[in-house]
Amino acid sequence: MEQAGKTILRWLGLDKQSDYVRRYFYLENMRASIYMSVVVIVLEVWMIFRMIRTVTVQHITGDALLSIGDRYFSNYFVLLSAGILMLLYALRSTRGWTNPRWVSIAVIVFCIGVCIYELWYIVTRDPVKLSFNIIYNALVVTAASLLMILFSVVLLRNNGDRKWQSMFMLYLFSFVCINFGMTLSVNAYSKGEQILTFLTMELYVVCLLTWRPIVGFTVLTVSYLIFFGELNALVPVNSPDGLPGITESTMINGFTMWLSTLLFCISNYSKTRSQALKDENLEQINAHLSEISVKDELTGIHNMFYFRTEAEKLLNYVTTDRENAVYLFLDLENFKSYNEKYGFHEGNALLCRIADTIQKAFKGSLVSRFSDDHFVVLTKKEGCEAIVAQISEEIRKNQREVQLSLKCGAYQPGEGETDPSLACDRARFACNSIKKHYDRSFRYYDKSMEDQFSLKTYIVNHIDSAIENGDIRVYYQPVVSTKTGQICGLEALARWNDPTHGLLPPGAFISILEEHRQIHKLDRCIVEQVCRDYRDACDRHEPFAPVSINFSRLDFELCDIIGYLNEMSKRYGVPKHYLDIEITESALSDEKSFLPGAIQNLREMGYHVWLDDFGSGYSSLNVLKDYQFDVLKIDMKFLAGFGKNEKTMPILNNIIDLTKQLKMVSLTEGVETQEQYRFLQSIGCDRAQGYLFGKPATLENLRARIRAGEITVSPEYLTGEQTA
Ligand code: C2E
Ligand code: CA
Ligand code: CA
Repeated sequence: MEQAGKTILRWLGLDKQSDYVRRYFYLENMRASIYMSVVVIVLEVWMIFRMIRTVTVQHITGDALLSIGDRYFSNYFVLLSAGILMLLYALRSTRGWTNPRWVSIAVIVFCIGVCIYELWYIVTRDPVKLSFNIIYNALVVTAASLLMILFSVVLLRNNGDRKWQSMFMLYLFSFVCINFGMTLSVNAYSKGEQILTFLTMELYVVCLLTWRPIVGFTVLTVSYLIFFGELNALVPVNSPDGLPGITESTMINGFTMWLSTLLFCISNYSKTRSQALKDENLEQINAHLSEISVKDELTGIHNMFYFRTEAEKLLNYVTTDRENAVYLFLDLENFKSYNEKYGFHEGNALLCRIADTIQKAFKGSLVSRFSDDHFVVLTKKEGCEAIVAQISEEIRKNQREVQLSLKCGAYQPGEGETDPSLACDRARFACNSIKKHYDRSFRYYDKSMEDQFSLKTYIVNHIDSAIENGDIRVYYQPVVSTKTGQICGLEALARWNDPTHGLLPPGAFISILEEHRQIHKLDRCIVEQVCRDYRDACDRHEPFAPVSINFSRLDFELCDIIGYLNEMSKRYGVPKHYLDIEITESALSDEKSFLPGAIQNLREMGYHVWLDDFGSGYSSLNVLKDYQFDVLKIDMKFLAGFGKNEKTMPILNNIIDLTKQLKMVSLTEGVETQEQYRFLQSIGCDRAQGYLFGKPATLENLRARIRAGEITVSPEYLTGEQTA
């Protein structure tokens, strides 16, 4: 029922329209009225010329001239004025056009002329000859002229788009058109001619413009009734009985015309309306898309993309006080642990609260979240340290068991420096430099960091060429079986042998490559080298043991690392159980991780998956509950306290027991002394790795040690003939 009511209202055009749809109709009408008014202007100028010619050629004077003037001239001038004025208003609304003053002044002059003429005509006419039609016509023409004078003055005084003014002009113009059509056609009819002008004007007004059906219906019906009423009062030229009244066929024709124009008006309205709704939808989708492209989904503050573009713009403005501008990089230390302890939901809620705090504290500055717990602000240098301290305090007040601390790096862009990416990198660098320094929470980027920063930039910019040039090398560190003391595995550890910076340890580049999402390139390179080394060892009948490769959490996100592993193992004929994958415990604390599925896939395919650095974070036991691993690699921090901390031994003992219960192989890393090794043997730890058995070294180095008898390989790996 309600639906039917709505349909009827919509059909009549009485439904509620959004601002967008109303504006759409308005602009459509303004555009249509440009064409309409141009046609009207051309036509009227032509008519006026024709009329002047008729008057001069036929030497019409006196009363006859007066009557022509009244019927045609004043009407032509009014319609011409209305056309010009409509054109000005329409151009102003659609093109933001500023109207030339002389045009409005010309319109005012025409209209004043028409008013004076009409007044003079009525006053000087013999009252007996004044018919209702003549008075009515004079009044209407004068009223329209007065209104047009008013609207010309309004137009002269302001030039901005005022919707109601243009709409009023549109109504006035429509009215003048219809009235003109009516006057001319009544006159034509009285002479036995066709009533085409009226019909043309009706078509113009109702079909070229778009009206709500109810308005269209009213305009059409009223004008048709008046028009046919007037015709009905006249005696048709070829009337057989000389009585007034229209013929039946004229009435039927009129009705058909009225109905078809009305139907056209309705269909025009609904077509335009559905187009407007479609456009509105698109507009809304676009607005939504552009909003999410600049907003951070989680916290609702701006994202990195927006920050970078806006920061660049801001620093390029002449009015910006560049000398006082500073980039702040804020990082919440220990957020990862908070996430691990309280879960992602709580972690996200915390990030939202912090985003809100930062946004409020730096009101009026450019604030954004770059990623995870990293926020970047572009603000005034003055007082920024105090604001950061205030945010820190707020965070500290609301913290729970996990100690959270806010670190902030600041960078002041130099003269002419407008690249926000580099500036943010520097601020971040300053921030990273005070991580784990419990006494510092704010640091400006300074000259002393320049070297380290350029090494970082160097690494990011040269990883591709380093891989291409073979500067990335795999070092192997032996893993021994505690039962035999013989090598049962090798860990592949990356080294970057750089022509300018020398041999770089992974600590110098792994985290940088992760931060810049380039780590997969390195890990793919390591996978291929390991597979190639295996093939080489087999071909040369050299010993080789299963190799464990370190994978970053990002590898699974940035590339199809499993596909690549399969491809390489196939290409070099490496059996899958010769390739073990180490995944560090902290990688498993990310909600959006692809890891759970990936670990299962790897194991189903026949690779062994190891849990690296067990015990280094908060969630160690949860990880064991949720995932299945083949080898548990106990973090070297347990052995670091060996001998000093009496808790170490019972804890290690318990972990080894747990490993057995969970049917995993246990491996302890960081074994440096015989004492530690003997203890691990005594508690039943399966494997050991550490400097005691060898530091990470090149394959040649390792082979030389084996040949020298310093270390032996488990017999099963001696020949290196195991192929898939
Ligand atoms: P990790 O996987 O925990 O590797 C063990 C690290 O401990 C290695 O450092 C190794 O040299 C060192 N180590 C081994 N035994 C001892 C010992 O007895 N005492 C002491 N103090 N240290 C020992 P390295 O080679 O510098 O690697 C550091 C970290 O870099 C690795 O930690 C691993 O997380 C990462 N990494 C190394 N290579 C790669 C790689 O190819 N890909 C990825 N994604 N990460 C890698
Ligand atoms: Ca490892
Ligand atoms: Ca480790």
